[in-house]
Amino acid sequence: MHQEIKAVALVLMAIMLSSCTSNKASEPQKTKSVSWSHHKGEIGPENWANLCDTFSKCGGKAQSPINLVTKKIAVDDSLTAPTFSYGESKVDIINNSHTVQFNISGKNQVNLDGKEYTLLQFHYHALSEHTIDGKYFPLEVHFVHKHSDTDFAVLGVMFEEGEKNELLDKYLADFPTSKGEFKSDADIDLLSLLPKDKSYYNSQGSLTTPPCSEVVNWYVLKTPVTASKEQLKQFSKILNNNYRPIMPLNDRAVRAYSE
Ligand SMILES: [Zn+2]
Repeated sequence: MHQEIKAVALVLMAIMLSSCTSNKASEPQKTKSVSWSHHKGEIGPENWANLCDTFSKCGGKAQSPINLVTKKIAVDDSLTAPTFSYGESKVDIINNSHTVQFNISGKNQVNLDGKEYTLLQFHYHALSEHTIDGKYFPLEVHFVHKHSDTDFAVLGVMFEEGEKNELLDKYLADFPTSKGEFKSDADIDLLSLLPKDKSYYNSQGSLTTPPCSEVVNWYVLKTPVTASKEQLKQFSKILNNNYRPIMPLNDRAVRAYSE
């Protein structure tokens, strides 16, 4: 019985309410909430595109995540190093029932390809969403930046098992394990969350959750950061397989920048 309750709780945890608009001419324009899940099934990733009109992009041709095939990715000399003007930020940690997200305040920016993007939040997926040569990592963090409503940049950083992770060391015990929020007065040094080497793979793609809008410049860093075995185990339990399956590359190009 206990196991059953646990299973139901886990499924509920993975379900999230998203607003959804019906554009059917026969109905007056109305917004309703639609549940979706990362897990296979009626409201799982294979059916996101059909759940409502505003999720139709989930069936698009430039979807994320993708598998990065390193031998097919050429270094592009026109790409430049990202220039960070990140500072310190207070944290507001939210479990929105499909990820653990750090909302941050202040003007933290990165210049990518000559454009300024402002950091809005970062959040985690376990397993990783992108794969490199078919290999999954235990965890991937996404730093979500905005330039305009149609131009986002998401910086993805992989985790591998190793030295314990300082941020997780500080906050993992405070992460809400189900829908909820945790505010802290501590400041976090955002730059310290990234690896030293900022070499990356770049491609055009989408948000990896509904409505899957194709508005994202993806920058997946080649160098992972580390977390301990215990941290990865504990965090993965909370995240509960919140990764979207790999999507087809179709005719998109993937470029690489190397330091
Ligand atoms: Zn993400």
